[in-house]
Amino acid sequence: MKVDYLIVGSGLSALVFGALMANAGKRVQILESHDYPGGFGHTFTLAKKYTFNAQLHYVWDCGEGHTVNRVLKRLNLDKTITFERYDPDGFDHMRMPGYALDIPSDVETLSRRLRQLFPQDSTSICQFLDEVNRVRAGLKLLSPPLQPTAILRDWGAAAGTLRYLNSTLQDVFDQFNLPLAAQTLLALQWPDFLLPPNQLSFYAWVILFTSYQEGAFYPTQHFESVVNALVKTIEDHGGEVLFNQEVVNFLVTGRTVTGVQAVDLMNPTTQDFYAHTVICNMDPKKAAKMIGLDKFSRAVRKKLDYDYSPSNFVAYCAVKDLDLRDYGFGRWNIFHTEQPNLNRAFRQMYDENDFSQPSFAITTPTLLTQAHRDCPEDCQIIEFLTVANYNYFQTLLKTDRKLYNHKKEEILERILDIVEEHYIPHLREHLAFKVTGSPTTNERFCHCPQGNSYGSNLTPQNMGIGRLNHHSSLKNFYFCNASAGYPGFAPTFWTGALLYQRLSGDVLLAKS
Ligand SMILES: Cc1cc2nc3c(=O)[nH]c(=O)nc-3n(C[C@H](O)[C@H](O)[C@H](O)COP(=O)(O)OP(=O)(O)OC[C@H]3O[C@@H](n4cnc5c(N)ncnc54)[C@H](O)[C@@H]3O)c2cc1C
Repeated sequence: MKVDYLIVGSGLSALVFGALMANAGKRVQILESHDYPGGFGHTFTLAKKYTFNAQLHYVWDCGEGHTVNRVLKRLNLDKTITFERYDPDGFDHMRMPGYALDIPSDVETLSRRLRQLFPQDSTSICQFLDEVNRVRAGLKLLSPPLQPTAILRDWGAAAGTLRYLNSTLQDVFDQFNLPLAAQTLLALQWPDFLLPPNQLSFYAWVILFTSYQEGAFYPTQHFESVVNALVKTIEDHGGEVLFNQEVVNFLVTGRTVTGVQAVDLMNPTTQDFYAHTVICNMDPKKAAKMIGLDKFSRAVRKKLDYDYSPSNFVAYCAVKDLDLRDYGFGRWNIFHTEQPNLNRAFRQMYDENDFSQPSFAITTPTLLTQAHRDCPEDCQIIEFLTVANYNYFQTLLKTDRKLYNHKKEEILERILDIVEEHYIPHLREHLAFKVTGSPTTNERFCHCPQGNSYGSNLTPQNMGIGRLNHHSSLKNFYFCNASAGYPGFAPTFWTGALLYQRLSGDVLLAKS
């Protein structure tokens, strides 16, 4: 049987694209190598009572008229999938020795808080924040779908933004001469990119920072409700999501993709699947290598030549008989650094595997919604996240599993030392559950090459005009994932919806 859209992978952008197409009457089939949907956005339960989302913590663009809301409305899901807003007065709490800054939604309040901390640098702080807002407006103008008349009308804003095409966040900090501590406080959400200021694209930082300012959200019924609702939409419209189907090859005639070859992992047999159009949600570079790079145009080959984003360490924990709200936790994330220079902190952890002065994120999903908890009544979930080097962990795992486990334990222990010192004395006595994930865990459960966290690396090199998009140069074959759009919950909604819009002609995304 030949379906309209055969999708390889069930990550968020695939589910959004598939649900929109199924809703529009197309026959959709998804092949997923794991036995659960959602990719990085999947949810799992351990010890039969502690439920965690693999990677998602907080998301943006969920307010009325924004991308996620538009997609949900079109699917008639906006009443069932709702979101809780993080505290607008401080959705990210930045903490470092000697300094604390809560990042608010209101730009003026942020400016005031920063100027109170750094009165000598008031002028440069104001100039920097003004420039961030100007670049934000320019990026909105320049993002697809492009509207040439709007760009021409506001050419000044577009040109002012384009001058930062090759800039890192550090370049712009330096340009405005911000003091180091202010830089650190503003860039302390670096785990959202897994890059330090001297490598991170200024565009990527501006988009994320200002989007969370417009509204940081958590789904009322946790992330699994979103994934399940998208899968249900596909199935209710006659589509299907087949699990344990690992695509091992693409069927190509000349320069036309006609289907894929998949192995049923539960019953190792190979089967061919055919479609009018094949959508690739798995890593584009890996898929292109399966197909043969020589089949792609030179321009697409160049775009496929991206490096991967670094990988991460995560600790999923539950605390018992302790209310995290009594210790400074709430409807916000906490980002902490021991090492005040984030470029150095990153180098120590990522290049030298030295976690003695770590910088990390703390999230507390059970404090973000009143809905059914992810754990027993007397427990709360707390998660810790930082960067980790794939090659280092892969070598440890291959050569000495004990050392591999020991390294994960060492990182968690150091983080717990710091949390006990600064936030929750005797935390360890309340730890009811803990499990840690490394870059190789990412690779195993999310199928991402080198355990990469955000697809292609979020450096200026990969964020500019040479960035890969849906276009593959092969016939009936499109890319649709974080590396061929943008990483993150809202950006992958946008990626799936934009491809839907392009292939169906049904205009869903409009510029806000
Ligand atoms: C540590 C971490 C924290 C994050 N935190 C946030 C956050 O707080 N907020 C936010 O907005 N975003 C966050 N993200 C980013 C976000 O989770 C991802 O960008 C997004 O989920 C990626 O979706 P995707 O559509 O690219 O697909 P992916 O999630 O990459 O899914 C691809 C799917 O394809 C399947 N697949 C791969 N190969 C094959 C094959 N050969 N055959 C069949 N199936 C295959 C995989 O199993 C997987 O299910 C985080 C990511 C990480 C790693």
